[in-house]
Amino acid sequence: MTTVLSSVYQDLVERLEEISRLGGIMSTLHWDQEVIMPAGAADSRAHQLSTLSGLIHDKSTDPKLGELLDLLQKEDPSAFNAVEWCNIREAKRDYDMQTRVPKKLVQEITELSSRGHHIWVEARKENRFTDFVPTLKRFIELKKEWAQYVFPDKTAYDANIDIFERGTTMAEITPIFEQLKAELVPLIKAIREKNQQPDTSFTQGKFPIEKQEALGRRISQDMGFSFDQGRMDVSVHPFCGGGHATDVRITTRYRDDNFIESLYAVIHETGHGLYEQGRMAESRDLPASEASTMGIHESQSLFWERMIAQSRGFCTHYLETFRSVFPENFKDVTVDALYAAINVSEPSFIRVEADEVTYPMHVILRYEIETGLFDGSIAVEDLPQIWNDKMLNYLGVQPPTDTQGVLQDVHWSGGMFGYFPSYTLGALYACQFYNTMIRELPDTEKNIAAGNFAPIKNWLNKKIHRQGKLYTPAELVKRVTGEPLNPGNFIDYLQIKYRALYQLD
Ligand code: ZN
Repeated sequence: MTTVLSSVYQDLVERLEEISRLGGIMSTLHWDQEVIMPAGAADSRAHQLSTLSGLIHDKSTDPKLGELLDLLQKEDPSAFNAVEWCNIREAKRDYDMQTRVPKKLVQEITELSSRGHHIWVEARKENRFTDFVPTLKRFIELKKEWAQYVFPDKTAYDANIDIFERGTTMAEITPIFEQLKAELVPLIKAIREKNQQPDTSFTQGKFPIEKQEALGRRISQDMGFSFDQGRMDVSVHPFCGGGHATDVRITTRYRDDNFIESLYAVIHETGHGLYEQGRMAESRDLPASEASTMGIHESQSLFWERMIAQSRGFCTHYLETFRSVFPENFKDVTVDALYAAINVSEPSFIRVEADEVTYPMHVILRYEIETGLFDGSIAVEDLPQIWNDKMLNYLGVQPPTDTQGVLQDVHWSGGMFGYFPSYTLGALYACQFYNTMIRELPDTEKNIAAGNFAPIKNWLNKKIHRQGKLYTPAELVKRVTGEPLNPGNFIDYLQIKYRALYQLD
């Protein structure tokens, strides 16, 4: 780099670091709000967060930042290394996204998000979908308008997907989801018709919270989570947050009559936490080091929750631990019984309670509805009926109320469309990464059964966590696994595992 260019880049770096640090402070305040803030501080905290987000917005849309980016973008990429060029590219994308939309539209979306949330909470409580119809209609109009400003070359729905799963489009998602549907609907039906669920009685009973907490902490540590650079606490909804790669905060929640739910929430959030702690050592306050996308983030939590913690090897390793912590419940439990009990597949009304076989159908249902809402082939008023028909076709169950059906998710009340596919793409990436890992590290299954997770964590650190935003998800999957995203990995995994578990033909 020439001296002039290097001083322009340095100016950019300082501005981006400032924005990133303010974001870290905001994230720490969010954690505080969810975990320890006294209820009486709700109003003052809302004001603090809004002041801070205004400050971040001003800094991110500063015309001087735009000028720097224009100067740098004119240069030949070869004047920079990969991380530097990624910082420039990401900052430019973010700057454009924030400055291309007219202020009036931004304000209307922000206002509708907070009003819409309140309307949705009430409609859900009262089981009255009609109360939510005007909000949803307006949001679709606004998000179509928003898409034209931000990504004029994309269709409105693709533009919405792009915020969560960069570079991924309907053209790629639709055939993948069609393939999943063709395989999973008959598998779900076969499991249901078999009508033979395993004994799960030993997962219920009395499980003192201190014991659950110690167990969760231990397993999180076994997985490689650093408590020197992270914490684990309690919140209403489990999440992974924190202000920096050296300060990662995960949470869970406890029920004293069931420990599996809380433990698997810890494992899931630890998966997210390991991604954050594993970020590249340089540029930690710059965009290049940030997590790739929602879907890749979810691939890391699901990798640990499903590919590792729902495996037979994991049961082999931890059965004795469970027995020593909860001796009465686990007195006569075998590895096979534990493995069957943590892999129950049964259709449910609620997406967040779904297992790995049925979960994709909840996502596909929402994806089909969203694409229909955006291309105009589905009317908002018809949603409850369409929802219930699809539930019956895909999962064989129908929710008795809209509260347990079309009104269950928070996403649409905030205008978040195009988010749901990330969950299932995450599951597909996780499985494909796992298949590559067992090829490259053939001892993986043995390592899991021995509780030796270091090679697994190191592999993920190197192949995924340290790659930050250098690649799109499609590029990353190709680089790590040698092939584009192939749903066959996930389909084979589910077919083999669940046909054996439920003794189907
Ligand atoms: Zn997650």
